[in-house]
Amino acid sequence: MKKIAVLTSGGDSPGMNAAVRAVVRKSIYEGIEVYGVYQGYQGLVTDNIKKLELGDVGDIIQRGGTKLYSARCPEFIEPDVRKKAIENLQKRGIDSLVVIGGDGSYRGAQRLDEEGIRTVGVPGTIDNDINGTDYTIGFDTALNTILDAVDRIRDTATSHERTFIIEVMGRDAGDLALWAGVAGGAETILIPESPSDIKEVAGRIETGMKRGKKHSIIIVAEGVMSAAECAEELRKYINVDTRESVLGHMQRGGKPTGSDRVLASRLGAFAVELLLNDIHGHAVGIENNRMTRTSFDQVFEETHKIDEGLYRLSRELSI
Ligand code: ATP
Repeated sequence: MKKIAVLTSGGDSPGMNAAVRAVVRKSIYEGIEVYGVYQGYQGLVTDNIKKLELGDVGDIIQRGGTKLYSARCPEFIEPDVRKKAIENLQKRGIDSLVVIGGDGSYRGAQRLDEEGIRTVGVPGTIDNDINGTDYTIGFDTALNTILDAVDRIRDTATSHERTFIIEVMGRDAGDLALWAGVAGGAETILIPESPSDIKEVAGRIETGMKRGKKHSIIIVAEGVMSAAECAEELRKYINVDTRESVLGHMQRGGKPTGSDRVLASRLGAFAVELLLNDIHGHAVGIENNRMTRTSFDQVFEETHKIDEGLYRLSRELSI
């Protein structure tokens, strides 16, 4: 490996900075020059690339967002656009790249790898929806941010004897909703991976009320329906006083938890290690507390699956 570059792409996630720091410091530790690409694939195309030194990644491990900025660059699917990006790397003698992002970012990374830039992916997304890793960087922080909100809402739900519907992020993946639901003691969790039967939900709320339950918390992943739609659906079956809460972008921000910082540090450094060993076209991950790598092909082979055991448990504990 001659020179290495690093970028963050797609939706930002807390811990991306810690991952960038790990890539930069591990590279310099190994005696390799390292470059930061600003604004994801966009910056690769517009040549927004700068050499990074140890000090450039100082004081960022605790910060949310990404110092390298992120961007969506839809035109990156065009081979001609990627050709420009590759030229920008090659003219500096950069032959290796670490892409920190979600599955969309991995698609771009796979193309670059096939086209001559040795590329490794690092899972950076709050959604936890990437195959080949138990956890993605940012998931734990987002989960704790949601929980903080759920706990507060629970206080007011109890005081006012209401049903609260909390909408969380997750277009295609229900991990955030499921984990927040289990950890927050929600009565109902609605996730895209499992069909939602609102009539059954209404029945459960009614039974709870008859039993003397004062409040109920429903957590719905945005990919299932909005909180407002959920309230409307519920009212078709029961007369219930609901309040809706959409957590929105606050779920993406904030300083990363200790777990996310450690995960990001391990994964960032491991990505550099793979490149040093001439292994590329892979994404790094953590499985059973072990660093693993999975080829991009394998990552895309199946759609991400929910932890069925945890989902069953959530049903058992919310009777
Ligand atoms: P998150 O899931 O957290 O939003 P992501 O990485 O999945 O993150 P996307 O917006 O899907 O976010 O992808 C990020 C960028 O990756 C896109 O803006 C585009 O530049 C690039 N990309 C996505 N799909 C492809 C593809 N098929 N070929 C080349 N590049 C792609």
